[in-house]
Amino acid sequence: MTSQQPKGRPSAATLRDPEFDPDASYVLDQTLVRRLTRRLIASSDESTLVRSPATGRPLGVVPKSTTDDVEAAFARARHMAGLWAQTSFAERERCLLNLHDLIMDRREEILDLICWETGKARIHAFDEPLHVALTARYYARTLERHLAPKRKSGVVPILTQIEEHRIPKGVVGIISPWNYPFTMALADGIAALAAGNAVVSKPDHHTPLTALLGLELIEEAGFPKGLWLMVYGEGRKLGTPMIENADYICFTGSTATGKVIARQCAEQLIGCSLELGGKNPIIVLKDADLDRAAEGAVRAAFSNGGQLCVSTERLYVDESVYDAFVEKFVARTKAMRISAGINWGVDMGSLISKEQLEIVDDHVKDAVDKGARVLTGATTRPDLGPYFYEPTILEGVHDEMDVHQEETFGPVISVYPFASEAEAVALANEGDYGLNAAVYSRDGARARRIANQIKCGTVNINEAFGATFASIDAPMGGMRSSGMGRRQGAEGIHRYTEVQSVATQYLLRFGPFMGLTDQAYANVMAASLKALKALGRA
Ligand code: NAD
Repeated sequence: MTSQQPKGRPSAATLRDPEFDPDASYVLDQTLVRRLTRRLIASSDESTLVRSPATGRPLGVVPKSTTDDVEAAFARARHMAGLWAQTSFAERERCLLNLHDLIMDRREEILDLICWETGKARIHAFDEPLHVALTARYYARTLERHLAPKRKSGVVPILTQIEEHRIPKGVVGIISPWNYPFTMALADGIAALAAGNAVVSKPDHHTPLTALLGLELIEEAGFPKGLWLMVYGEGRKLGTPMIENADYICFTGSTATGKVIARQCAEQLIGCSLELGGKNPIIVLKDADLDRAAEGAVRAAFSNGGQLCVSTERLYVDESVYDAFVEKFVARTKAMRISAGINWGVDMGSLISKEQLEIVDDHVKDAVDKGARVLTGATTRPDLGPYFYEPTILEGVHDEMDVHQEETFGPVISVYPFASEAEAVALANEGDYGLNAAVYSRDGARARRIANQIKCGTVNINEAFGATFASIDAPMGGMRSSGMGRRQGAEGIHRYTEVQSVATQYLLRFGPFMGLTDQAYANVMAASLKALKALGRA
């Protein structure tokens, strides 16, 4: 095994380091695995042997759920939802802030598990507890602002008083992917709990243990046992019963699966938010700080091996600074430290699976066969682990190549020169996706003007993706084939509520009053409307 292992210390008491214990068949202490999997609602005879993609070594056996388990989970969660909806904002805030502290205190344990289960570098794993803690704190501090009844303008001044109430939907189903298994399994559910709902979630089959550790923390934070339940198994099998039993579905994953889920939710007449794929562009203008842009581009293209929804796969550079920028970008990429293991000090780890490695390799081979130039990378690294691939920069990519507009979801980026601002915007808007974009420029007003013309749900200026993703007060999500709905901010919690308008009417009735004929009533009302308009009423 060539993986970089912790030097001189096991990273956490619960983890077993194969270098120190070469006979261990499992990387993880099996008491940890049993402790975590105990929380699953899973009665099937079938199970999955989850392996670490970084080394291929087994992590643990995880039992699978049946469709009956899904129904049972929703029934239990529905009972808890009724109780939880009655809790005060202060009680929800207390649990959310406890969760924030627990995540920060137990971050090393969380990082170990994420690294083993995904093969990603520890620095990229660190984004996950950070994001979940930020989300917990944000909704703790703002849930009253988002959810408390709001006075609205009644139709008759003073005599009609109306309030907008936010009522929890009930039980929210959450289906999440493997790439950010802690944040994608937890952050959306935290907003659902804050809004007064229960949750039934299904993590991806590659990464159940990280999600289960999250569930353990949810319960330790004080959320009632049974308020959040988890099932495990193939999405194709468990997705339909989840949708049939849920009051709302929050899905994060591929655009292809998102379309299937949207159709099934439409059939049930329930809402859904869909956080889907991307082919995200960066624009580097000629007045940009090129070092800063090169640093951002490396992080954006290669964080978690490019397996990040907001990763950059297309880089457009003003032709006057193209050569200077590309030199810096390639040099930084070549200097990256690629390794397996759970230690700090690694810039890129493994891809998740053989399938993902094959997609990456096929995209690069197809591009090279059709004339693309390789500036660095373009090779697998079996010496590091079964699914390692070099960070890869391509030039000369055109629209007959798969990598041009298809999402690779791997460490591959194509660089293109542009001649004008208008051309840069047109290139950035090519294709069907619209998730995230970035603009690098020293001229903030110009960068914001360009941002407004880009059809993406988030645009970062002088940063690749972190500024929008970590700013929880602002909504985050995709336009076009990148999704529907938004996580984070007011939208991220309001999606889990039904809006109910409650009006109290004083004195005046809606119909002829005080003996007026129908026609006289109509005349009085018409005159009243004109008077209200003259008074500037909405
Ligand atoms: P995927 O769609 O194959 O799987 C995602 C989840 O959906 C998994 O839990 C899976 O079990 C489940 N699933 C699969 N088929 C299903 C079905 N028919 N019904 C119900 N559930 C089903 O996606 P993936 O390949 O695992 O994840 C990578 C994709 O996710 C990429 O396209 C990436 O861009 C996207 N993604 C988007 C965001 C975002 O916030 N926009 C974040 C992370 C990942």
